Amino acid sequence: MIKAIKGFNDILPTQSAKWLQLEAILADVLGRYGYEHIRLPIVEQTDLFARAIGGATDIVEKEMYSFADKSEPPTPLTLRPEGTAGAVRAVIEHNLLRGDTPKLWYIGPMFRYERPQKGRYRQFHQLGVESFGSALPDADAELIAMTHLMWQALGLKDEMRLQLNSLGEIDERHAYREALVAYLTDKQDQLDEDSKRRLTTNPLRILDSKDASTQALLNDAPKLAEFLGTESMVHFEQVQDYLTALGIDFEINPHLVRGLDYYNKTVFEWVTDKLGSQATVCAGGRYDGLVGQLKSIGTNDDKSDKKPVKSEPAIGFAMGLERLLLLMEAVAPIADKPACDVFVVAHPDVYSAGISYAQNLRYSRPDVRVKMASATSLKAQMKKADKSGAALTVIIAQQELDDNTVSIKDMQTGEQQTVTQDWLSSKDNFSRK
Ligand code: ATP
Ligand code: MG
Repeated sequence: MIKAIKGFNDILPTQSAKWLQLEAILADVLGRYGYEHIRLPIVEQTDLFARAIGGATDIVEKEMYSFADKSEPPTPLTLRPEGTAGAVRAVIEHNLLRGDTPKLWYIGPMFRYERPQKGRYRQFHQLGVESFGSALPDADAELIAMTHLMWQALGLKDEMRLQLNSLGEIDERHAYREALVAYLTDKQDQLDEDSKRRLTTNPLRILDSKDASTQALLNDAPKLAEFLGTESMVHFEQVQDYLTALGIDFEINPHLVRGLDYYNKTVFEWVTDKLGSQATVCAGGRYDGLVGQLKSIGTNDDKSDKKPVKSEPAIGFAMGLERLLLLMEAVAPIADKPACDVFVVAHPDVYSAGISYAQNLRYSRPDVRVKMASATSLKAQMKKADKSGAALTVIIAQQELDDNTVSIKDMQTGEQQTVTQDWLSSKDNFSRK
């Protein structure tokens, strides 16, 4: 038997109804903020991710699904591990920034080669949001406020804690990195293995190490906040002021650095206590340099150390839909919904009358979900009606046809009665639960 690949999950009908419900609620909130939907390819050139995310990140170092296609010469391609790089690529490619400041959202599968466990899969789903064109802190606050409204709409408001940090600008971060490396270099024997390696590849990631002795060492390390310039500080304070004005609680987490290279200034995460070590449900930040960086690929600016071609400020976030659903299940299990409200059973001799009845009912009652079984025996059809979870079964046989009636059976009480054929067209007689 050929099975699905490890970490790649089927989403079965009992689950998919919850997915649709979750997606509808999130799309509704996005619409209320004026965000527009964009659909992006699942595969991009490997280079796009390597450039955007950064070579020394977990994603690019070890998590990407990359392959060469059959073109000559073969093109290195990658299943998208995240959505921002592709969204920025599309925005540049289609000139969406010309005279406009797009606010976009997308939803779909992402792929990362990680160790599968609860809340961590190799194919998982994100809702991503990217807001272009504003360098001002109100844009940061708006995005965060929108996620806050999403938690409210999903009944998760009390489960989420907002953590904030500022990474400053690239030069500020570079200065900090040097100070951090200088501080840690002669103490590197006390670092965990990952952090030791990161000391040369991606030192900032050492800050979010889970290792206790590494964390102890960091207590006396230089602090990122001390390296922020006035502009970065003021920006960060204004974000906090807006959030306070909006009544949104937050914690400053000076060790929040995010795994991707493209962030600057504000970074944030929504975390929960209910999902173990898969605690982060939603994460994002500002990436003012990324548009310029991707625009400059292939130009001379790309090769030099000077600032890249004109960028466009932007900020975004992504949330993990599997984690959101796990959390919703943990807080208030979502009831399984039956696939139909009314089941129509028709004797095989008068089956065409049954089909017509069901079809007319679907026309006259768009609010009611009507299901039938195939034209087997009445008994076999009744069995399917029992299993279907329908609230009501309509039974049509020769007698009913002769009398211009139908029989209806309340599936909860088992009570059966004869009613006129148009009985169901009135909402007073039957409404969907
Ligand atoms: P983590 O620290 O848990 O690995 P991350 O920092 O790699 O997360 P991001 O790249 O910021 O995650 O992705 C945003 C969100 O997508 C995460 O907060 C999480 O909810 C979800 N996510 C990321 N990787 C996975 C995965 N492998 N399986 C399920 N959800 C994921
Ligand atoms: Mg990760």
